[in-house]
Amino acid sequence: MYRSASAGHLLDLVRGGRARTRTDLASQTGLGRSAVSQAVTALIANGLLREVGQGTSTGGRRPVVLAFDQQAGVILAADLGATHSRIAVTDLGGEPLAEVAEDIDIARGPGIVLGWVEERFEDVLTLAGRTPGDVRGVGMGVPGPVEFATGRPVSPPIMPGWDGFPVPERFEERYGVPALVDNDVNIMALGEHRVKWSDSEHLLFVKVGTGIGCGIIAEGRIHRGALGAAGDLGHVRVSGHDDAVCHCGNSGCVEAVASGGAMARQLGALGLKARTSRDVVSLAKGGNPEAVRRVREAGRLLGQVLASAVNFFNPAAIVVGGDVADADQLLLAGVREVVYQRSPPLATQHLKIVQSALGDRAGIRGAAAMVIENVLSPDAVNQALAAEPPREAIA
Ligand SMILES: [Zn+2]
Repeated sequence: MYRSASAGHLLDLVRGGRARTRTDLASQTGLGRSAVSQAVTALIANGLLREVGQGTSTGGRRPVVLAFDQQAGVILAADLGATHSRIAVTDLGGEPLAEVAEDIDIARGPGIVLGWVEERFEDVLTLAGRTPGDVRGVGMGVPGPVEFATGRPVSPPIMPGWDGFPVPERFEERYGVPALVDNDVNIMALGEHRVKWSDSEHLLFVKVGTGIGCGIIAEGRIHRGALGAAGDLGHVRVSGHDDAVCHCGNSGCVEAVASGGAMARQLGALGLKARTSRDVVSLAKGGNPEAVRRVREAGRLLGQVLASAVNFFNPAAIVVGGDVADADQLLLAGVREVVYQRSPPLATQHLKIVQSALGDRAGIRGAAAMVIENVLSPDAVNQALAAEPPREAIA
C-alpha cells in the first residue's frame, strides 16, 4: 500500500484486474476517496478509463464499475523479417484490429523498407477505421541486433545500410508518439510470453528459421544483457561439426549446421530442390528421408545447446518458433530427446518444450506489448495527464 499512488498507478491496478471500483482503488492504495475520485475523473477525461455499469452492493449504494478502455487509442506494430514482414494495428490491449503480411527484402535498405512500412501503417489504420491521431505508440522488430535505448541497429549482418540508422525518429516525428525498436526474436519472445505464458516468469523463445536466435524472458521481462547480445545461441559451438564454416568466421556453430539455411544448403548439395528454410520444411513434411533425418538431427544439436541453457537459466518453458518449427514435431522431438536426457532432473521436472502457439504473429503481438507497456506505464500516463489537462480544468 502506498499513499503517494498516482493516477497512473490507479490505471495500472484497473488494467491488471486488481481493482474494479473507486472503493477498491482507495483500499488498495490507502488514498482518500476524494483523491481517488479526482484521479479517476482525469483518467476518464483522457479516455483511458470508463464507467461500465454497477457492481453488487456490500451494504450501501451499488458501486460504479470501472474498466480500462482498450479502444482509447491504437498501436502500430511491425515485424520486419529478412524477406517477409507483417504490419498490424492493435488496440491498447494488444489485440490486432487489422494486419497485412508481404514479402519485402530487408537488404533494400532503410529508405525503401521504412517507406514501405509507413504506407502499410496507413493501410492498416484505414482497414481498422482509425486515424493517425488515434496512434499512441509504434513498435517494431528487425532481424538483427539493436541498441535498445536508441532503437538503432548495430552492425546487423543481413541488413546492409541499416547500421546506426535512427529508425524510431522517423516514426516519432510522423505520429508524435514514442517509437520502440528491438531485435525480432526478443519481440517474438515477449509476444509469446504475454499472450500464452504470462504466469511463468522465465522463458526461452528459440527461433529456427534461416538462422537461429533466442529471446530470453527473465522475471517477466526481456533480458538483453550488457550490450544487447544476450540470447545469441546460434553461434554456440556443437561437437563433431568443425568442418561447418559459419558466416560469423568461426566453425561448428549450431547455426552453421542446424538452421533452416544450413539444411537447405546440405539438401541442395544432394541435388534436392531446397533453397530456403521453407523448402526444407516442405520436403520434411512430404516425408523426404534426407530432410526428415536432418531436421530431427538439427533438433538434437539444438538440444545440446539448449540443455546447457536449461542448466544455466532454469526456464519454465522453451518455446520453439520460426519456419523450421513447423516441420511437424520433428524438430521438437530432437530437442526434447536431448534436453530431458542431459539436463538435471530439478531443471526439467516441470519444463515444457513446445511449439510457438502464435506462429508468425508472435512478433506483432510482442511489438505491440512492448509499446503498450511503455506508453501505459504509470509515469508515462501521469506525464500525458499533466500535458493534457481534462476539459473541465481548462474551462
Ligand atoms: Zn557462427
